[in-house]
Amino acid sequence: MADVHTPEQRSFNMSRIRGGDTQPELRVRRMLHAMGLRYRLHGKKLPGRPDLVFSGARAVLFVHGCFWHMHRCKYGKPAPATNRTFWAEKRRGNAERDKRNRRALAGDGWKVFEVWECWTRDEAKLRAKLAPVVSYVRGVQSPARRTSS
Ligand SMILES: [Zn+2]
Repeated sequence: MADVHTPEQRSFNMSRIRGGDTQPELRVRRMLHAMGLRYRLHGKKLPGRPDLVFSGARAVLFVHGCFWHMHRCKYGKPAPATNRTFWAEKRRGNAERDKRNRRALAGDGWKVFEVWECWTRDEAKLRAKLAPVVSYVRGVQSPARRTSS
């Protein structure tokens, strides 16, 4: 079977398989933490087990590997020659599952954010992409608007 992955994609996949945390995930967590957000990890009871859960704001965030989740970027688009393979099927399956999970979560009142691996390669870009997450979570969690508990 042809190996169509870059080393980074392979290591991303391997950490997923081992159930560990990937580099892109750690970068996102570090940055959000530095921006003042607090979260739970791996919402095991939620569809798709979101990587980060902001319970108070009822928001979740997924960090997706571009290759495995078919991002429309250069890392997510392998050469056409690799399209008819086991891996292509797996990628399509992932993308479809992502869509179902998004729908299930949204239907249940969750706000869903997705962060792509390629965004995490550039700190400035990642910060810009995470800004809406921060303002959403802060906005919803601000004491003035909190109901009770
Ligand atoms: Zn990408």
